This record gives sequence, C-alpha cells and structure tokens, in this order.
Amino acid sequence: MKVFYDADTDPQLIKDKRIAVIGYGSQGHAHANNLKDSGCNVIVGLPAGSRSWDKAKEAGFEVLYTRDAAESADLIMVLVPDELAPGVYRDEIAPALKPGRSLAFAHGFGVHFGKIVPPADVNVFLVAPKGPGHLVRSEYLRDRGVPCLLAVHQDVTGDTRGIGLSYASAIGGGKAGIIETNFKEETETDLFGEQAVLCGGLTSLIQAGFETLTEAGYAPEMAYFECLHEMKLIVDLLYEGGIGNMRYSVSNTAEFGDLTRGSRIVNEQTKAEMKKILGEIQSGEFADEWMSECESGKPNFKRLEAEGAEHSIETVGKRLRAMMPWLGEKTLVNRQVN
Ligand code: NAD
Ligand code: MG
Repeated sequence: MKVFYDADTDPQLIKDKRIAVIGYGSQGHAHANNLKDSGCNVIVGLPAGSRSWDKAKEAGFEVLYTRDAAESADLIMVLVPDELAPGVYRDEIAPALKPGRSLAFAHGFGVHFGKIVPPADVNVFLVAPKGPGHLVRSEYLRDRGVPCLLAVHQDVTGDTRGIGLSYASAIGGGKAGIIETNFKEETETDLFGEQAVLCGGLTSLIQAGFETLTEAGYAPEMAYFECLHEMKLIVDLLYEGGIGNMRYSVSNTAEFGDLTRGSRIVNEQTKAEMKKILGEIQSGEFADEWMSECESGKPNFKRLEAEGAEHSIETVGKRLRAMMPWLGEKTLVNRQVN
C-alpha cells in the first residue's frame, strides 16, 4: 500500500480553488482553519440560526448560507452530520452544483450507501482524517498532522486525485501520511472501528469492568480510576509504540494477567459478534437503521444516550475530575469556540 506525504502533493492545486466548507462542527472548524492557515481561499456555509455561525465569524471566516456558499465555490466540502447530509445535499447543494466542480466528503457514508447520488459531471472524492476534528486542528497547530484517507469516486476533470492529495496535505495529512483507498473500504472499516472497538467496544468494556468492581463492593472511586482514568495512560503507550511498548512498560504481573486473561474477555463469541456487526455494515442494514432512526426523531438514540449519562461511572467521574483541575486546562474541545 502506497502512503503519500507532503512532497508527493502539489500545494498549488488546492490554492487555486475557492473552497466552501459546509458545516463548522468538529471536522468543519478543523478543515476550514487548517486550509486558511495553509493559504487557501475558504468560506464557510451554514444554515440560518446555526450555533456555529458566530464561532466561524469569530475565527475570521466569510460565512454564507449553505446554498450561496455552494453556488460560489469550485470545491464543496460537506462536513455536516452524516444523518443530515442527504437532506442538505438534496435541498441546498445539488441545485448549486455546476459541471466540472468538485464535491468532497470526510466520510463515504452518504455516497457509498446511495443516500447521496451526485450527478455524473462533477468530481467526487473524500478526505477522511483518521482522528477527531479537534485533533486535526490541534495537531496542525503543533506542525504535525492526523493521517488521512483519500478516495476518488468520480473524476471528470482528470485531476481529482491530485486535488484530493493537495487538500489532504493542506489540512495536515501529508505530515502523517495520506493513504489511498475507495469509498467502500473507508466507509465500512470506519463504521466497524467505531462500533466494535473504538467507541462501542471500549465504552462497554469500561462500564462492564466498573460494574463488576462496584457490584463486588469496591469503592466506585477505585473502580473509576482503574477502569476509565488509567485507560488513557495505557492507550498513550499503545499509540507511541504498539502493544509491545505497552507490555514493556507495565509490570510483569500486569503483562502475565494480560496474556493469560485478555482472550477470556474478548473471546471467540465476541469475535463472532464482531463478524455479525461487520455483516450488518456491509449489507447496508446499519445505514438503513440509522437513517430511519433519524427520520422517526431518534427515540432509541436519545433513550440510550440518557441511560449512558445516568450511569454511576459518569457521576463519580465528574466528582473526581473536578479534583484534577489540570484536566480542564488546554482542552481540545472548548464548546464556545470549536
Ligand atoms: P458535527 O456534528 O460536529 O458538525 C456539524 C456541523 O454541520 C455544525 O456546524 C452544524 O451547524 C452544521 N450543519 C447542520 N445542518 C447544516 C446545514 N443545513 N447546512 C450547513 N451546515 C449544517 O459533525 P462532524 O462530526 O464534524 O461530522 C462531519 C462529517 O465528518 C461527517 O461526514 C463525519 O462522518 C465526518 N467525520 C467526522 C469525524 C469527527 O471527528 N467528528 C471524523 C472523521 C470524519
Ligand atoms: Mg472514524
């Protein structure tokens, strides 16, 4: 697999375009600011009354209604939530598309599952940073980058791949590596990762560990530190040098426990369930379930989110974090700004 870096990209390709970043949320603020700081011509598109409007203005952007922003741009980067994107595309972006222009995404969800079907006469590509938007911005500011995936779905002008590489480099991806893939692979692996491992697998693992300890009569404070707080310290070691690096750093006792007990927690049954989850993603069943959940006002989403917020790990965590004031300094997320 070939990985591209800044030297493999042509920075001018993206500087020659007027870019409309649609949405100013987690990814939107990061792309818009990184592109601007890389010398690109960027405007922001938002709906009337959006809470993001002031944040984008405050950061010095020209902000237009989505339709007007799309109308005036050579390249439209769609960074609205995936569940809203098909509607925003249909009502405000599609009518503004002109032949030969470029339509881009940070995730293949809408296009791959056929919720968004762009006309045949526009370029369509994705640049998907493999990290949360706030890190895309903070790493850029430290002269580093978050790795990005690039995929071309339609190329009518013949230079879409070059434009995508140039875009990925301008948001910082060329420092960490830009990997070329396709919409199917990006979309399906991204959904699987967040469901089975990064978000779903991890939160369930943490909660089950916390519950096991507290149900056995141990103090919730102990259980919080053990099962949640320490997770970051372990993940930092994994991030830096892989599983071997983490095993080198922890005690021999911890490593023996890891080697002999881990596969009893995540076992053949867990893996069978992972395969089932992957199948639901590949067949489009998950995408349909998520879209119909949104159409009916997200009842399950809201109920499950509220249940999660009421879990005692959240109450005890809030109290304990308040005793560690440095956790609130230099945070990646500042809800007033980004
Ligand atoms: P978000 O929820 O953080 O932000 C959404 C933004 O869209 C907000 O600024 C909102 O005001 C705006 N918006 C809503 N309706 C709009 C409309 N009609 N017109 C214009 N703007 C509108 O979203 P996000 O998490 O940044 O996700 C954006 C895209 O990036 C998605 O495709 C997502 O899959 C992808 N992505 C996100 C992350 C991440 O870190 N969150 C990582 C990789 C890829
Ligand atoms: Mg992801």
